[in-house]
Amino acid sequence: MNLKDKIAVVTGAASGIGKDIAKVFLANGAKVVIADLNMAAAQATATEFDPSGERAMAVAMDVTSESEVEAGIAAVAARFGGVDILVSNAGIQIVAPVDSYDFGNWKKMLAIHLDGAFLTTRACLKLMYAQKRGGCVIYMGSVHSKEASVLKAPYVAAKHGLVGLCKVVAKEGAAHGVRANVICPGFVRTPLVEKQIPEQAKALGISEEDVVKKVMLKETVDGEFTTVDDVAQTALFLAGFPSNALTGQSIVVSHGWFMQ
Ligand code: NAD
Repeated sequence: MNLKDKIAVVTGAASGIGKDIAKVFLANGAKVVIADLNMAAAQATATEFDPSGERAMAVAMDVTSESEVEAGIAAVAARFGGVDILVSNAGIQIVAPVDSYDFGNWKKMLAIHLDGAFLTTRACLKLMYAQKRGGCVIYMGSVHSKEASVLKAPYVAAKHGLVGLCKVVAKEGAAHGVRANVICPGFVRTPLVEKQIPEQAKALGISEEDVVKKVMLKETVDGEFTTVDDVAQTALFLAGFPSNALTGQSIVVSHGWFMQ
């Protein structure tokens, strides 16, 4: 897939899945924006990927903040001249059972996963529509966009919500050549998942090894983790797809956990 000179904003790109997507997009010709809450890590990532600073740019952005998202995307437009691809990827996980789930944490989870997706989409769509050269929006869903697990009520609710948002963006964006799709990865060993293993072991009263084997990978066809590159290659395919034929869809990349 050739993304030559496409301008791609990836949120949460200072770590894990987003970082690898930015790397793969850059290697395929795109100019990438590493947008993250953690500016030091975002800047380090941009410098690591492109020491010249010509094709990678770090932007400090809390995706839950309307003003930071607007300012961040405005800075991208000023620097690179527009946006062609948005990967709404920033996310966190806070696990607890529903009956004791802290309301503040519930709101925080929905703010990052849903408000963040909405605010970044709105800011980028305005540019994509004005540019009149189409565009591509990719949401980082999860198998939890399709399936549920214990201890993850707001995560599952938000990831299902992204599928709805995606479908509306696909319908509204069509007239402007803007496509929208969701990637639904299985478990990927990023910091987000490493943190969960001991937390789930404690909450479920089982060993960390059993969390991996009997909870996280239980439903896969081969007991394997999905990798950051599996997800990045899927993002590359979606970003490079040339028409509205592939829009409004969600693609599960999970070693067979949840078959549609
Ligand atoms: P990660 O913790 O490695 O990276 C997440 C990044 O998001 C970090 O750099 C963090 O600073 C940033 N971030 C957090 N809150 C932010 C905010 N408010 N504004 C901007 N940036 C913020 O996590 P990851 O595993 O790479 O997860 C990335 C996405 O993939 C998330 O949406 C997650 O739900 C989704 N996902 C992950 C897995 C998995 O197993 N790791 C599976 C399915 C879906």
